[in-house]
Amino acid sequence: MRNVAVLGATGSIGGSTLDVIARHPEQFRATVLTAHRRVDTLVDLCVRHRPELAIIADPARESELAHGLAAAGVRCEVASGPAALVGAAASALCDTVVAAIVGGAGLESTLAAARAGKRLLLANKESIVMAGPLLLEAMAAGGGTLIPVDSEHNALFQCLPGGRPGLARNGVRRLILTASGGPFRGLTRADLASVTPDQACKHPNWVMGRKISVDSATLMNKGLEVIEAHHLFAAPAEAIEVMVHPQSLIHSMVEYVDGSVLAQLGNPDMRTAIAHALAWPDRIESGVSPLDLARSAALQFEAPDTVTFRCLALAFQALRAGGDAPAVLSAANEVAVEAFLAGTLAFLSIADVVETVLAELPAQAVVDIPTLLERDQLAREAAGRVLRNAC
Ligand code: NAD
Ligand code: MG
Repeated sequence: MRNVAVLGATGSIGGSTLDVIARHPEQFRATVLTAHRRVDTLVDLCVRHRPELAIIADPARESELAHGLAAAGVRCEVASGPAALVGAAASALCDTVVAAIVGGAGLESTLAAARAGKRLLLANKESIVMAGPLLLEAMAAGGGTLIPVDSEHNALFQCLPGGRPGLARNGVRRLILTASGGPFRGLTRADLASVTPDQACKHPNWVMGRKISVDSATLMNKGLEVIEAHHLFAAPAEAIEVMVHPQSLIHSMVEYVDGSVLAQLGNPDMRTAIAHALAWPDRIESGVSPLDLARSAALQFEAPDTVTFRCLALAFQALRAGGDAPAVLSAANEVAVEAFLAGTLAFLSIADVVETVLAELPAQAVVDIPTLLERDQLAREAAGRVLRNAC
């Protein structure tokens, strides 16, 4: 029996994780559930999954959560605040941590799980983008296992021999990350000038949280994933290629030196990657319908348009700059996406904000977490200034 902490239980990945867990009550138990502010949703999840501990990140809502759980007849521990998230990720209540908080807010709990030697199911890509080498060091020190949940990285993990890092050692030439192209694939900059948050969040193939949906529309999501792949698989930027594949049936590919290309396919439903990561090295049923290739659309591939979707080029630029440039990129992007979702920034200006902040804060070596968090804060402040000047 594995005891699973689902950090970000009220989100899209959190919900898919709980769906898979509920299909295998003899193998998995959700012992910790966390949410940011949505008390009612968290209470509902606690009624269904009966965890040992429920955490609301916003401390002002702890008593509301306690009352809600009592009224629903759920007896479990209640806690709140970022420190409680960190404590739970490292606690004996779980052996497995699903890191499914969105954004930099997930960094410290992800690191805590790594240091504590947990089996870490990583969805929170921003934490590895921000702190790649430090997160991997923490994993090594803790002695746990990191299994990628992001569908592309999960696909690569499945297509690499034994999931071991080190490309040349395994005869790997390239990692090919597939991208759907998002809802705005094929549009021009003129078309994109006035797109709305709701249009950006209408992803053609995946149902996801709003931040990652906007990132998919700008292609920043693919940029973050390139950086994630670089860290997870020790792949240099030159060995990572992005290929737009609008059907989202191939989730990524590994090309070997002998010309073999291995791909992982499946319907676009995150429960496949989550079930794989939960059960690895075994396999469990996920609830995802089987892929019907005879009835599926023809598979298409095209190069990404990095002139229109500049965020992908900016992410490659940050990866090549090294040091904390990816952390600066990710922080600036979070601020810009929030402003876009709030209706105060134009879609195309997201890339402008990120570019300006990257230029303002040239890359520095990543030394430790406190320094990294300071730089994250500086990048957020710089992005805030750019936004104010733009308005
Ligand atoms: P979401 O917005 O649906 O859910 C985010 C979760 O994080 C919620 O439970 C929310 O309560 C919690 N949260 C938000 N801010 C918080 C804070 N400050 N403190 C504590 N908790 C906070 O997002 P999602 O789509 O589930 O994505 C989660 C992560 O997984 C992201 O990093 C995303 O990039 C990654 N991911 C998502 C998908 C997907 O299909 N949704 C696929 C691959 C990777
Ligand atoms: Mg992905």
